[in-house]
Amino acid sequence: MRYSIEKVTTLIGARRIGEADANIGWLLTDSRSLCFPEETLFFALRSERNDGHKYICELYRRGVRNFVVSRVPDGLENYPGANFLKVVDTLEALQRLAERHRDEFGIPVVGITGSNGKTMVKEWLYQLLSPSMVVTRSPKSYNSQIGVPLSVWLLNEQTQVALFEAGISRPGEMQALRDIIQPTIGVLTSLGAAHQENFRSMEEKCEEKIALFHDARVVVYDSDDETVSRCLRKSGYAGEKIGWSRQSPNAAFYVSRVDTEGTTSTIHYMYKGAEGCYRLPFIDDASLGCSFACACVALHLGLTADELGQRMAALEPVAMRLEVKEGRHGCTLINDSYNSDFNSLDIALDFMNRRPDHNGRKRTLILSDIYQSGERPEELYAKVGELAAKRGVERFIGIGADISAQAGAITVADKHFFADVDGFVGSPVFRSLRDEVILIKGSRAFGFDRITELLEQKVHETILEVNLNALVANLNFYRSFMRPETKIVCMVKADAYGAGAVEVAKTLQDHRADYLAVAVADEGVTLRKNGITTSIMIMNPEMTAFKTMFDYDLEPEVYSFRLMDALIRAAEKEGITNYPVHIKLDTGMHRLGFDPRKDIDEVINRLKHQNAIIPRSVFSHFVGSDSDEFDSFSAQQFALFDEGSRKLQAAFDHKILRHMDNSAGIEHFPERQLDMCRLGLGLYGIDSRDNRILSNVSTLKTTILQLRNVPKEETVGYSRKGRLTRDSVIAAIPIGYADGLNRHLGCGHCHCLVNGQKAPYVGNICMDVAMIDVTGIDCHEGDSVEIFGDHLPVTVLSDALQTIPYEVLTSVSSRVKKVYFQD
Ligand SMILES: *Cc1c(COP(=O)(O)O)cnc(C)c1O
Repeated sequence: MRYSIEKVTTLIGARRIGEADANIGWLLTDSRSLCFPEETLFFALRSERNDGHKYICELYRRGVRNFVVSRVPDGLENYPGANFLKVVDTLEALQRLAERHRDEFGIPVVGITGSNGKTMVKEWLYQLLSPSMVVTRSPKSYNSQIGVPLSVWLLNEQTQVALFEAGISRPGEMQALRDIIQPTIGVLTSLGAAHQENFRSMEEKCEEKIALFHDARVVVYDSDDETVSRCLRKSGYAGEKIGWSRQSPNAAFYVSRVDTEGTTSTIHYMYKGAEGCYRLPFIDDASLGCSFACACVALHLGLTADELGQRMAALEPVAMRLEVKEGRHGCTLINDSYNSDFNSLDIALDFMNRRPDHNGRKRTLILSDIYQSGERPEELYAKVGELAAKRGVERFIGIGADISAQAGAITVADKHFFADVDGFVGSPVFRSLRDEVILIKGSRAFGFDRITELLEQKVHETILEVNLNALVANLNFYRSFMRPETKIVCMVKADAYGAGAVEVAKTLQDHRADYLAVAVADEGVTLRKNGITTSIMIMNPEMTAFKTMFDYDLEPEVYSFRLMDALIRAAEKEGITNYPVHIKLDTGMHRLGFDPRKDIDEVINRLKHQNAIIPRSVFSHFVGSDSDEFDSFSAQQFALFDEGSRKLQAAFDHKILRHMDNSAGIEHFPERQLDMCRLGLGLYGIDSRDNRILSNVSTLKTTILQLRNVPKEETVGYSRKGRLTRDSVIAAIPIGYADGLNRHLGCGHCHCLVNGQKAPYVGNICMDVAMIDVTGIDCHEGDSVEIFGDHLPVTVLSDALQTIPYEVLTSVSSRVKKVYFQD
């Protein structure tokens, strides 16, 4: 659906500056995601940390002509042909536009909220309804104040039913989302602890969520939850209530019995007096609850009990991970197991496009048929082709009958089509995949797992999974202590504390870290060769690597006169002037650095008498910001630094950034954040002040290779160290001290997790293998084993080793394959 710019102006009540005609099809709030400039309307949103107005000039250069702003840019003559729609609040304007768009549709709209399970309910409803109706839904979990309007904008003439998620984190937000979604059917999935910090009570949070349903005709909820039932009564909601219950036969949807067999549940229910039954290929409580909510909505929308039964039995797990893995022959695989539809394709292509790549490797898309779009194939695949071309796809591989029939619509020159996965993997095209970044995206029915499996590099069954969303959540957690203008250095030394510097740096660059820091020049070179353009600091510059630093734009730390003089000589030899460096002061660590009292005059003197290097920043490091015990020492360190760094600044006209806080310092001494902070361990999810896990980033996993019964009188492993106290079941796992599993964890000093249960290490840990005791644990060969991560904090291992989590994380060997994912 397209809106003329005049219409948009009226709908959002803006003052228009500019007269060019335009039709708007795309709304943009993040300049990095631009795709169709001519039809894009950019909303210059302001947040605490950023201001969209900053990107107008760049977007204009890239072809965008339509902007919603709260401030019209200076020099309007530089923007011929542009329209600026001036409003007081650009976020409100975005929401208003979505609201007006929503008004055009008299169809059932399902608004889904709750603490957990929103996305699962939305995706399952999609699977249940889409065989018989055209469904528009929020992509992934777009459920915020910005995500909801962007989702609602996706409604189009074909849509017959819409599914939107609404997520809130603080009081007062739901009102805006209600006006935009205007649900006719409301679903409250479950009430849990998420975001409780911003609400006084569970009741208050529940009332806020229920505000979404105020004008809905039907509300679907768990009537066994007393808080929900009470809040709903108190809210004055007057429409129909469809409660599900496992206790009360009077509920609209009464679950009379649930039988479990293996991995399948059979649910017997009574819906409005009629008996029914369905099988669900899941047995956990969360899945059951979501299936009840889905059944209520589907039955209300007219699905027959038979249709419900058939489709429930075929429900697929909701996997929303987008994974990045190393593949064979120099390929990187981006595997998006999320359902294949146009909107999620757009998001995945945007992800690929935004990750820089070295040597400009070719970008390849492997795509299956897209089901249930409601559009004619000619139109759909023409859109897909255009999108792929705009998002930089250079090689297009289509798999499926529909997409093959529309081969002509794909404009990417290097294109290939196959009827099915077999045809593709047996073809020369498959064998020719080399040095490419490959996005693999297919409807589940096509079995694209096989392609991924064949392309994956299988070296070892032990992997480190790195959660990029968690990394960003931690970054934002620490940013919340900082003033918006304070800069941030993200420490990616030691291969990003073991998480893999290249992919971590790509994500940090995308999230606008001001600086990255590594220990040695070679680490910096690797980042540059992989497309990282963010400023990079070298903490331990080697005298032999100055030339490399100049060549790759790496900024060294300078901590001694010897280093400074050598650096100046090297720069002068290359004819370099004003090369940025970072001056380190020693305020108490007594490791590296200039003495802020004794040395500072001489530092200034030497810097003043040359122009090869220039101090870009000055910094020092706390010895004990992670413990209150050292607070007075920290204060003393800070006073010394303050004095020395002020003196340095006073000697120069240009601004010299001052920084001292590390992760613990940011949290403990936000008043000492100065111009910049250096974030290390916290980024990787560990709060060094109390060893608490923030958002867990890295999970080290392996699998059971072999199981055996070992009688009590036998021993396990080298030197017969593994003595048994009972007849035992012993599992061998392919991880040893050469992978970074510290040998001191052996002989029962620590455990790993097998199917959620603790399995202690038995006997000495070997180089490549370890043995664990799984007696009494229900497990099989091939089952997954967690060494540390989401369910077993890395601090359990570091405590057992009487060391710090830094050491355990950075010990993970480079031979352990890493898999990056994003929800
Ligand atoms: C590693 C390092 C940091 C980061 O410390 P964390 O405790 O991991 O936050 C900060 N500054 C310097 C100089 C470092 O070497």
